Amino acid sequence: MTELEEYYDHLYISPHFDDVALSCGGQVFRHTAIGDSVLVVTVTGAEPPAGLQSAIVQSLHQRWADSLGETPEAIVAQRRAEDWEAFGILRAAVLHLDFLDCIYRAGPDGAPFYPGPTDMFGPFNSADTDVVDALAASLANLPEAGQVYLPLGVGGHIDHGVTRRAGEKAFTDVAYYEDYPYTMTPGALEEVLPAAGRGEWRPETVWLTETAMAAKIESVSAYRAQLSSFFTGPDDLAAKLREEGRRVMADATADGEDAPKWAAGAERLWRRRASFTLPSFEE
Ligand SMILES: [Zn+2]
Repeated sequence: MTELEEYYDHLYISPHFDDVALSCGGQVFRHTAIGDSVLVVTVTGAEPPAGLQSAIVQSLHQRWADSLGETPEAIVAQRRAEDWEAFGILRAAVLHLDFLDCIYRAGPDGAPFYPGPTDMFGPFNSADTDVVDALAASLANLPEAGQVYLPLGVGGHIDHGVTRRAGEKAFTDVAYYEDYPYTMTPGALEEVLPAAGRGEWRPETVWLTETAMAAKIESVSAYRAQLSSFFTGPDDLAAKLREEGRRVMADATADGEDAPKWAAGAERLWRRRASFTLPSFEE
């Protein structure tokens, strides 16, 4: 457990282990390279509860047992250790909150809120609202930060949506990151940021040097327990992260930005435009 500082220049909120490394690893590297402090807080760091046996939980735990030979408790311990390693590479501090992943959340009667194999990408269960308030309270107690970053919620994962809503309750001025790997699905980003509504948003492109790109790849490589879900191996991981870097560069240049010659990739943040409407001036 790290001794937390009272203040961080940058505070990133990650729904799951690996989300911030996957989506923001390059910018975290850039921050710490110039001496800025970064804290990455992972929300769903709790151990799976004993006894909850929905279809999705059973199949996931079976897959862990078959492919990794590990129990759910051991997997969470391993994922915490991997997170330490990943952000050790990027020189950021980490904090793991003990919220349950949505597949483990259940009502007082023990009935799971998201029992099916695709329910984690389905509609929010209104009985699950308490988690938003509890997380908002927890986030409000974090150290002060110069800038807070939340997931946009690309891909519609329940935990990404919960993290964004709780973060919006807890913090006033936030930047949003594009959730990778969901951004790989054509149209997924547009679902969250429709072209028609983009005028209310301001993009901020973070250009990545080759060094930052390589550090991001090395950092993500630390999440060995999770990699098989997204990538076929280390080469595929590097290739896909580079492809994502180019996808973001293409988006930015399509919006009229000039990519610096040295850029090996990019990450993009979004901020809501400040409203300059002053009613007293309009009357
Ligand atoms: Zn996630």
